[in-house]
Amino acid sequence: MKPFPRAEISGVALKSNLQRLRELAPNSRVMAVVKANGYGHGLLNVANCLSSADGFGLARLEEALELRAGGVSAKLLLLEGFFRQSDLALLVQHDIETVVHHESQIEMLESAQLAKPVTVWMKVDSGMHRLGFNLEQFNDTYQRLMQCPQVAKPIHLMTHFACADEPNNPATAEQTQRFNTMTQGLPGERTLANSAAALYWQETQADWIRPGIALYGVSPVAGDFGSNHGLIPAMELMSRLIAVRDHKAGDPVGYGSYWHAKKDTKLGVVAIGYGDGYPRNAPEGTPVWINGRLVPIVGRVSMDMLTVDLGIDAIDVVGDDVMLWGKTLPVEDVAEHIGTIAYELVTKLTPRVAVCLD
Ligand SMILES: *Cc1c(COP(=O)(O)O)cnc(C)c1O
Repeated sequence: MKPFPRAEISGVALKSNLQRLRELAPNSRVMAVVKANGYGHGLLNVANCLSSADGFGLARLEEALELRAGGVSAKLLLLEGFFRQSDLALLVQHDIETVVHHESQIEMLESAQLAKPVTVWMKVDSGMHRLGFNLEQFNDTYQRLMQCPQVAKPIHLMTHFACADEPNNPATAEQTQRFNTMTQGLPGERTLANSAAALYWQETQADWIRPGIALYGVSPVAGDFGSNHGLIPAMELMSRLIAVRDHKAGDPVGYGSYWHAKKDTKLGVVAIGYGDGYPRNAPEGTPVWINGRLVPIVGRVSMDMLTVDLGIDAIDVVGDDVMLWGKTLPVEDVAEHIGTIAYELVTKLTPRVAVCLD
């Protein structure tokens, strides 16, 4: 018997999505972003499925070391850079590239003694104002990195967008313009585009695109779906019915007893809850997929279970499969009901959910 709840990961979908992104950005290399356990899809499995990617983007050194320990020899880039002086020796030892976004990182590089220089991507703050060097800091900082023997030359250049998921927001074009002006004439490779920019702002694709969510078959844009771009959802979150109960009109269900049935019905109890990462704040009406139809969550999501209204005529039985999101119930839809984004749903699954690669 398959474990449940489980996240079924389609290697075919992951590979197909990478191929599709290559079609959409034919002049760019692809840095597949696999941070946060491959967006909840399993870091090493995803990296192995996407072994034809040109490199992998990660948020933490520990994630990069896990890939190296798993035998991944591809280019690896720390998107937030390193945090400690002692990280630098590991970057050199394991051939890991780093973003530099802050003066403190330059100080660490300047005072380090390394077996060889580190490959650096200088992060430009073109308008997001979270990380990076702005227009006033750019030239001095660039020169300082140029003079640092621990920094490999040429220095590569990157920036990140604040509003690329809003296809009508002019901020992305403005950020692109600012980045291009600041970096004009400099050697080194350039990367600007996350998934949203790669899909919606072709002029941002540059030498490397850095897609995360799109590789998993999900659209970063509200009201949009991965399938609109030829992408295939890579995760199906599955569980099972562990009870089917007759339920009388007027009776409540679950903690707080805040939902009451309007008429006689049958309730299904599904073995998944916030202890698995399914959000407790999923409201009444959030859909789940059972036996070829959508049914609504009713009552409060608890730690290990949630309840759904199967309807009076239901013939579902204990043991039937339940899909919380997947091909026939896009995670984008579920996120919309819950008032969050698909990124949060897929990355928030807890270790109790078995991640199964097909
Ligand atoms: C996470 C991340 C990405 C990928 O973003 P998506 O929206 O998932 O495509 C790209 N670049 C940086 C710097 C990131 O932190």
